[in-house]
This record gives sequence, C-alpha cells and structure tokens, in this order.
Amino acid sequence: MIQKTPLIQKDFNKDFNESFRNLLLSFMPHELGVYIHFPWCLQKCFYCDFFSLELKREQNHHILYERYICSLRKEFHLRMAKNSSFAGFQKITSVFFGGGTPSLMPAELLHSILSMLKADLDFSPDCEISLEGNPENMSQDYLCSLHQIGINRVNVGIQTFRPSFFHEMNRFYSEECYQSILSDLKNSPFLNFGADLMCGFPGQKSDDFFEDLERLLTANPNHLSIYGLTIEEGTPYHSHVKKIGFPEEELQCEVLRELPSFLLQHGKEEKALKQYEISNFAQATFPCRHNIRYWVYEPYLGLGPGAHGFDGFYRYANPKSISLWEDTLDQGIPHCPLSDLPILLLRICGRVPLAIWKKVLLENCRLPMSSWQAACEIFQKWEKRGLAVLEAQDSGGHYSEKQAIGISRARSEKEYIEQFFQWKPEGIQVLDDCVFELYSALRHSS
Ligand code: SF4
Repeated sequence: MIQKTPLIQKDFNKDFNESFRNLLLSFMPHELGVYIHFPWCLQKCFYCDFFSLELKREQNHHILYERYICSLRKEFHLRMAKNSSFAGFQKITSVFFGGGTPSLMPAELLHSILSMLKADLDFSPDCEISLEGNPENMSQDYLCSLHQIGINRVNVGIQTFRPSFFHEMNRFYSEECYQSILSDLKNSPFLNFGADLMCGFPGQKSDDFFEDLERLLTANPNHLSIYGLTIEEGTPYHSHVKKIGFPEEELQCEVLRELPSFLLQHGKEEKALKQYEISNFAQATFPCRHNIRYWVYEPYLGLGPGAHGFDGFYRYANPKSISLWEDTLDQGIPHCPLSDLPILLLRICGRVPLAIWKKVLLENCRLPMSSWQAACEIFQKWEKRGLAVLEAQDSGGHYSEKQAIGISRARSEKEYIEQFFQWKPEGIQVLDDCVFELYSALRHSS
C-alpha cells in the first residue's frame, strides 16, 4: 500500500519559488511563442477531442508530410507578412510541436520546420523547443536525432503502463516500446523531459495510478502532467461510454488531492516535482515555458490545422480539417479578456508576483485601473477565507498566518505589488467558484 499524506503548502522550497518567479517575469514584449499542430496519430483514441486523424497504412506518408510542410510554410509566411499583426515580432522564446503525434515526423522534417522559422525570426539563446510524442516513436536513435536538430525538451504521453486500459480506449500500445521508454529517456541526451499520465480510466483504482507514477518516477522526469479522463461530446468515447464505463471521477479528485505531497515525498529536495499549475508539476527551472505563455496572456503564433493563435489582441482558430486549413486563413476575432479568465493566472499553483497580475490585467488584457483594484479586493477576501495567501517577496515561500495577515494590509500600492499570490489547497478545491467571483468583480468594475 502506498503512503500518501495531505499537501503541506510550506513545502515549496525557496529555489523553486525563485526560479518560478524569474520564469514568470522573463516574458518580454515583442517576443513570441510558436505552436505547430501535427494532425496525425497511429490510431484515434476514443476519448480524444484534439484534431487528429488516423494515419492509414496505405497512405504514402512521405507525400502526405511534404504537402503538410508546404501548407505550413504558406501559412507561416502569410501570418508573418509585413502588414500582418505578427509582423512586429522578431524573437522566439518557445516552440511547441503538439498534435496529434508529432513524434511521427521524421527528424529531417522537423529540422526543415525549424529552419523555416529561423530564416525569419531570431531564436533567443535559451529558446525552449518542445516536442510531444508517444512511446511507440521515441526510440533512442530518434531521441538522439531530435537533440541534434536543436529540440531541447520532449514530453511523452505514457498515460498508463496497463495495456488493458488502452484496449478499451482504442489507444495504440506496443509492449516493447513501453518496456524501453523509461530507459530510453534516461539514457537520452535530453536534460529536460517530461511525461503525461492519465487517471480515471473505467475500473482504475488509486493504487493502479500511483504504481504507474512510481514506475515513471524511476526515470526521474523533470516534468509531469496529469490528465483526468473526461467525456468530450462528439468523441467516440461519448457514444460508447455505456459499454466501456464512465470515467472514475472520484478517483481523479482523490489523485489530484494526494499528488502534491506524494511527489514531494518521492524526490530528493531539489529533484522533487512541485505543482505549479492545476495539472502540471516540475522540478525547479523546468516548468514548461510555452504553456506558461498561455496562462500569462502572452502572444503565440499557431500554425497547422486545428491550431490556435493569439497576437496579443486577436485570437484565431484554424479549421479542424486539412483541406479547409489549406484554403482558409482565419484572421481571428478580438479577444475578450474576461472570457479567458479560467485559463489565465488563476490556474497557476506556484507563487505569482502581484506585479504579474497587475501587468496581465492592465497591459495584456487592457482592463482599467478599477479592475486591478477590484482584483486586489478579491485576493484579500480569499486570503481572509483561507483560500489563498498573500506574502512578502523575501519570505522564501514559507507561509506563516501572522505574516500573511499583516502583509494583506499593505500601506501602499508599491508595498502591495511586491507581494505574491498563491493558492492554498482549499482554494484549488473551489477554483471554479473563485473564477466566477473574480469574473463578476472584473465585469462590474470595467
Ligand atoms: S494519441 Fe493523443 S492526439 Fe492521438 S488520438 Fe490519442 S489522445 Fe488523441
């Protein structure tokens, strides 16, 4: 039986907090992230709501990919054209190959996409270049070639080590690849790799999940994402749910409650994975820079069928069809900052400087000063209700009740924005209600 104890918030150590703060503060105007959507998978999982198509054996994959790269090139040049809203961006700080299963792409194709981006944009020296993949494509040789072409972060969708859960979900499974993936990752040249696990498969027990997790942790990943199995309308899983069973929702709540402390106990100090977002955990300096970009409302260029993009003012969503994507360039519609609230900073579980909150609300979302004041009042209410903490910059992340109450009565604006906001576990449990509360306050104030 695996031992688990409740989360103790003060266990966030100082190094993690400092590097997380630096990461949040590192986003600069005129810097861009790029998301590239690769739309094929070996098999279409029943539960999947992403735009992904099954790669048919009889198709000529080489021709298919060449055509895809051609269309990608066309979209990139149209979106970066002189009079377009992305034209002012010159520097890239993150690139993310998502999908679908981008690890199906041969390294030469990935290299040609990176060269296309590099021809028009500067890559910052510490640019994070991530690729998502599945165990069946991540051989040692492939990992080495990815590293050689400049990809510096890989994330593998393990989901579970139990094939029985996959069979019912129509997910591709290769025994051999699942046996070797952890040692392949450990012995690869990547210093930054992560993995996804899922919880809530019909019939899955808490111990099944934590055994998967323990096995994964033997590879010492720098990053972990946890996804609950959900029923998305329109997916084959939605129509077959009666046959294969409903997701184990109680298990999902239990896992998310116990995970932070479990991970803290299963890593030596600086190697422990710490929760920095609702479903994401990382070692210090390894939170995913590209994903944080979404939560701090920073622009990103989305390329490929089904990709989304945001230029800081307009949001667009490319058609979820290859032929429509090839023929249409969606210019997007002006964003509504309030409707984006659930994906903004509220998802972050690490300590967020209030200076970032102020910047996001006033500069990125272009809300008035009265909205910032309304947000401050809400933060103080949450602090009083025991849902969040506001603490001083030099406290090193060690929360004390006395200190927090004193600080929440900051005398000046400067004193106030030098504080940090951080959820307590009690706040995360009622996050939806809190999002609604802040949404209402901002709506009335703007
Ligand atoms: S492998 Fe991932 S993207 Fe592909 S169908 Fe399955 S869940 Fe969707």
